[in-house]
Amino acid sequence: MKRNPEKARAGMQRWRAAHPAEHRAQGRARYARHTDRLKAQIAAYHRAHPDIVRAKREKHRALRKGAIGFFTAEEWQQLVIEYDHACNYCGVIGPLEQDHRVPLARGGTNWIENILPACRRCNARKPC
Ligand SMILES: [Zn+2]
Repeated sequence: MKRNPEKARAGMQRWRAAHPAEHRAQGRARYARHTDRLKAQIAAYHRAHPDIVRAKREKHRALRKGAIGFFTAEEWQQLVIEYDHACNYCGVIGPLEQDHRVPLARGGTNWIENILPACRRCNARKPC
C-alpha cells in the first residue's frame, strides 16, 4: 500500500463499488467507534459550509412534501447574485431565504426557476 498508494486507492474504490452494503456497514461501525470525533468533524463542516447545508435541508423538505426538482448551493448563490443580494419583495440587503414563487403546498416545484430570494420578514409573511 505504501509502495503504490494510487493502485491501493483504486483497489479500495473497486471494492466499495462491488460491496455497497458492506461499505455502509463499515461506515456505521466506524461512526459508532468514533462518534464524538466524527460528530465534531461534521459540525465543523456544517459551520464552514452553511450554503451547502441549507441547500440540502431545502431539498429534503421539498422531497417530504412530494415536490419535484432540486437546486444546488451554486444555483442559489447565482440567483442571489442576480438579485444583487436583495430581497425580491422589499429590496432589503441582508440574509436571504428561499421563497417559492408557487408554494410547494400548491404544487410548486423545487427547481431553481420557482425560487426567489426573500428576507426573513417577507418570507415569513407570505403563507407557504
Ligand atoms: Zn423583504
